[in-house]
Amino acid sequence: MSEHMALRTMRGRAVLVTGAGSGMGRATAEVFAADGAHVALTDLPESPIDEIAAQLRAKGHSAEAWALDVTDHDAIRRVTNEVATRFGRLDALVNNAGISAFCPIDDEAYDMIWDRAVAVLLTAHQRLVRAALPHLRRSDAGRIVNIASTEALGATNRDSPYCAAKAGVTGLTRALAVELGKEGITVNCICPGPILTGMTAKVPDADKDIFAQRRTALRRYGRAEEVAHMTLSLCLPASSYLTGTVIPVDGGLMARNA
Ligand code: NAD
Repeated sequence: MSEHMALRTMRGRAVLVTGAGSGMGRATAEVFAADGAHVALTDLPESPIDEIAAQLRAKGHSAEAWALDVTDHDAIRRVTNEVATRFGRLDALVNNAGISAFCPIDDEAYDMIWDRAVAVLLTAHQRLVRAALPHLRRSDAGRIVNIASTEALGATNRDSPYCAAKAGVTGLTRALAVELGKEGITVNCICPGPILTGMTAKVPDADKDIFAQRRTALRRYGRAEEVAHMTLSLCLPASSYLTGTVIPVDGGLMARNA
């Protein structure tokens, strides 16, 4: 492989993906595996990551599964170290695991939903970064990709816990990009728009269509792999001068006024 080709692949590099049992996390694991990366699929114990990893290995790819609840600080440290030991390296971290957190501001459950949203969607990101950092520092192309949302850039009614946590992810991304830039580690953030995943599965197709026609430039929901390809692009060694960015992958939702 030529030097230039080597910069455009994750082949032989290792990536840890959170929330890899469904939706965009799963698609990310599949896209990285197909590119030749060693993929650590992590998700809640009840998720199908073991089966997904087995399917990837059956196709000749390098993939292993680890049960990991991203709100468990000790487990984050343990699993991150196990992944780096298993693959002999860790080059990229994809903070993807997420939950919905709709709640009106005066609802009795608001504090509980707020705390959960911040724990899963924001605090977990910094903890995974801190656990992964010693390993990313040993890579010649350390990469962090945080999955936020267009809800970090605008807001849906009654979605303030989610919007606040996701906006926090954009701030965390910029701050860590500035802090880690001198070490050559890049930190970027993707803001997916409406994507066909487990999270949006309960939205009736007709409602999805009305929303997409009215709000997106491309007039459709996105597919999980359309986000995964951007994640892969951000992790490539070639993407060495791109950091601190917040990139909507949203079918043009943020670009469209009318
Ligand atoms: P999904 O529900 O299909 O997948 C989310 C995964 O995260 C699941 O496998 C779930 O088990 C896992 N997860 C949840 N809580 C966890 C925890 N505590 N520890 C570990 N794993 C946990 O949803 P998705 O749409 O693929 O979501 C991926 C990311 O994209 C999330 O951060 C979500 O907020 C974000 N997002 C989704 C959309 C969309 O339209 N689907 C839009 C913008 C942003």
